Amino acid sequence: MTTLIRNGIVLPLDQPRRVLDPGSVLVDGATIVAVGTVDEIDADPRAAGATLVDATGRAVLPGLHNGHLHSGLLRGTAESMSLWDWLETYVDPSHRALTPQIARAASLQCYAEALLGGTTSVMDMWRYMEGSAHVAEELGIRATLVPYVADAPGFDYFETIETNRALLERHRSSAGGRVRTWVGLEHLMYCTPECFVAAAELAAEFDTGLHTHSSESIWEVQESLKRWGRRPIEVFEQRGILGPNTVVAHCVWLDEREIELLARTGTSVVHCPCSNMKLSSGPARVGDLRRAGVLVGLGSDGEKENNNLDLFEEMKFASLLQKVTTMDPTTGDPWDVLEMATIDGARALGLGDLTGSLEPGKRADVVTVSLTGLHTTPVLHGPNFNVAAHLVFSANAADVRDVFVDGRHLVAEGVALTFDVDTVRETAQAAAEELFDRITSVRP
Ligand SMILES: [Zn+2]
Repeated sequence: MTTLIRNGIVLPLDQPRRVLDPGSVLVDGATIVAVGTVDEIDADPRAAGATLVDATGRAVLPGLHNGHLHSGLLRGTAESMSLWDWLETYVDPSHRALTPQIARAASLQCYAEALLGGTTSVMDMWRYMEGSAHVAEELGIRATLVPYVADAPGFDYFETIETNRALLERHRSSAGGRVRTWVGLEHLMYCTPECFVAAAELAAEFDTGLHTHSSESIWEVQESLKRWGRRPIEVFEQRGILGPNTVVAHCVWLDEREIELLARTGTSVVHCPCSNMKLSSGPARVGDLRRAGVLVGLGSDGEKENNNLDLFEEMKFASLLQKVTTMDPTTGDPWDVLEMATIDGARALGLGDLTGSLEPGKRADVVTVSLTGLHTTPVLHGPNFNVAAHLVFSANAADVRDVFVDGRHLVAEGVALTFDVDTVRETAQAAAEELFDRITSVRP
């Protein structure tokens, strides 16, 4: 089946600042077969008889990659604390009360919200992820599943190396490679050194990636220095988990040597500006990381520390946070931020050959975004081109009209085709109510 996404303002993100205005994207099955001007693609014999998606008045861009997400149902209930108090007060009690059914409902809500907002790929660190795998398969989103593995005393309610292995055995790659499993590690303080070694071995055995979050708050760095005489990224190096298949979220509190370590080992970073601001964690040194050659993607972090999964909003905050912390208005350029949310995010997740830009041969993970709102007016062309800035600073998730993953039309005219929003909402609502009942009853 051929689909022609025609006459939009196409930002392929394949080369710096390239725009086809107006342009079209031709999709055959799961794959992009041509990207070009409207005239070029209209003249392409393969476009004859294609299903038409009229992108007039819309931007056409690669689907967004949310490189660090935690499915969850705590939205709006975990406010006004800094990271470590917040984890103890709100997050860990909810983990103790979690059940597979509640966990599945959380992933259902989060993946549905992500898709409606133009996010075609999530890396989700969560629990009981068999349910997450099934949700991703049903909804059609691209998902990298990362169980929260922890084994330190007091954290026995998390996933284990064994449950991570079981998920790998079933979902190392499923749904034609669209759903993948990586190895996950919870915070540095939640895992023993042996757990790190076992995680690295498990990732090597299954030839898959490894994901964790670190150096988010300054307390973590101080605690790491106290316990091990090294900073967190140095501990990671010592324990053998850095490398091109490893992605570390946050990386707010890094010194020069840690940045150099990430760059030298090819380790990628996912920046979560909303979470870092909301938990008063601090500003990541995104410009320094990128200049050092570290791939930096973008993530929402969990719904409880954001409190939405709108990557358009995340792009805006990514830019603004850099500008205000460096006092340099040239940082956080819209094109740089768009790269972080698309091609760099895909590369960080090891998906760069498959997706992240609109290029012939890549999977058709494509999003169209309406530019007809008052908040995205005027739309200007040629030397006054302003659509990249509109996407980062003016647009939001509700402007997304179409979403394709692997060429499958999942959202059309803003309406989900693979799920019913009311059903998702009712399922999540009931699961959250059950979770809070359980939190009350299991609280020590
Ligand atoms: Zn996290």
